Amino acid sequence: MQVTQTNKPKKTAVIGSGFSGLSAACFLAREGHNVTVLEKNDTIGGRARAFSESGFTYDMGPSWYWMPDIFEQFFAKFNRRPEDFYQLVRLDPGFQMIFGKGDFVEIPASMDGIMALFESIEKGSADQLKKFLSEGKFKYEAGMKDLVYKPAFSWLEFANRKVLSGAAKFQLLRSMRSHVRDHFKNERLIALLEFPVLFLGATAKEIPALYSLMNYAALSLGTWYPAGGMTEVVKAMESVARSLNVGIITKCEVGNIYVRDKHAVTLSTTKGVYTTNGIIATGDYHHTEQKMLEEPHRNYKATYWDKKTLSPSCLIFYIGVNKKIKKLLHHNLFFDTSLDNHANEIYKSPQWPTDPLFYVCCPSKTDNTVAPEGMENLFLLMPVAPGLEDTEAIREHYFQVMISRMELLCEETILPDITYKKSYCLNDFVSDYHAFKGNAYGLANTLRQTAVLKPTLRNKKVKNLFYAGHLTVPGPGVPPAIISGEIAATQLSKYLNEYR
Ligand SMILES: Cc1cc2nc3c(=O)[nH]c(=O)nc-3n(C[C@H](O)[C@H](O)[C@H](O)COP(=O)(O)OP(=O)(O)OC[C@H]3O[C@@H](n4cnc5c(N)ncnc54)[C@H](O)[C@@H]3O)c2cc1C
Repeated sequence: MQVTQTNKPKKTAVIGSGFSGLSAACFLAREGHNVTVLEKNDTIGGRARAFSESGFTYDMGPSWYWMPDIFEQFFAKFNRRPEDFYQLVRLDPGFQMIFGKGDFVEIPASMDGIMALFESIEKGSADQLKKFLSEGKFKYEAGMKDLVYKPAFSWLEFANRKVLSGAAKFQLLRSMRSHVRDHFKNERLIALLEFPVLFLGATAKEIPALYSLMNYAALSLGTWYPAGGMTEVVKAMESVARSLNVGIITKCEVGNIYVRDKHAVTLSTTKGVYTTNGIIATGDYHHTEQKMLEEPHRNYKATYWDKKTLSPSCLIFYIGVNKKIKKLLHHNLFFDTSLDNHANEIYKSPQWPTDPLFYVCCPSKTDNTVAPEGMENLFLLMPVAPGLEDTEAIREHYFQVMISRMELLCEETILPDITYKKSYCLNDFVSDYHAFKGNAYGLANTLRQTAVLKPTLRNKKVKNLFYAGHLTVPGPGVPPAIISGEIAATQLSKYLNEYR
């Protein structure tokens, strides 16, 4: 494995062991630095942690493995491949959308199958889809292969010939909603193409059409599953980190970052004081700035954060069921109510939803290691606005709503066969991750919060302190978190090698 020799190895700390923290640690270690990851929780992975209970293993957060090329690129930089660590399965169908009783639409893996499906729903839409996806491909290739790796300190970074000549094709000033509607009329096709942006933090009306790159990722590059669950990806990154001698300390919460002469020099943690030459902070940016740093060393004031648009939070149930549920696939989107109404109750007038859409992941359909034989492992997720009141009674109300809808639409009882149940919501995001307003997915990818307009990756007053993760560039999601860690590590390493 390639380890670049630095002028002099420096002692660096990475706060947090989510995807961005593990990625940052690997890249810093590859540059020859001495790296320690300090993690507050007792297991690593951050929002992508896993837990096992009563014979079930649950991924706590991400379940959609999209953009496999980004994972490949990460491992390739350490002379490894994903398959050295986990087996990837392409799901076919990729997912299904449930519009009503007996009204299930399966999205096949093959492009021919997807074209045929579109054409059967709306005449002429297969040709439209071809065009729509080729536009998405351009955005994906220019965006995910190049632009997202920029630290976004200045717009000049984006001023190259390729970007400038293709600027109009990024459709930054057009909304995702009008872009989709330019190509398709059928409400189901519109819902299918708009659903991926639900997690980007605004309605399709507010999200730039740039993000049709997500449709290209979902439909053309496919939906994959790492056998054993997303936790296997965390373990794989941990292996890479450990092979580079990264130290990982869990149950080690960082309380304060102390600064001298514009440099972070010491961290106080629940396991003692730690001295350092450089830090990458990957916990929620708002908490790092507002709670760990004294006021003169912060990039932003509290009022700045109050004006930021966050991506949604969510209500999750981890469920074990003592039988198989015939109509479920691995990924199931219960879209039998209005997407617009629910989106408005997340983004426009934040409140608990009146008639929610929700998502059910059933990994035991693909993987017999995540549930005891004959049983089903379910992960129910309902997006909600950040900052709402969260009580047991509210959680239970929506549990009943989701289970009754599942029973109705799957045409079988589920409630009597539930053997394990655990909920997770806003208060847990706050206590486990110090999540600002209990956010699950970080900062919204609206036009006003894109690239240079996001909270910056570097601390402008503390020279050896950088940030990574889903509240800075490039944004929310597992692939962006991995990229964020790489960018921050490159920047810190550059600073340490050049100036310290
Ligand atoms: C329910 C859910 C479903 C999702 N689904 C998907 C999906 O299907 N596909 C996808 O691509 N993305 C998905 N995402 C988004 C994706 O999981 C995140 O964007 C990504 O994991 C964020 O990684 P991160 O490193 O930025 O942050 P985190 O994972 O939050 O890591 C930050 C770490 O910092 C630690 N920390 C915080 N403060 C301190 C402190 N003071 N001291 C020490 N440690 C500290 C935290 O404990 C945490 O471990 C989902 C997210 C959630 C919550």
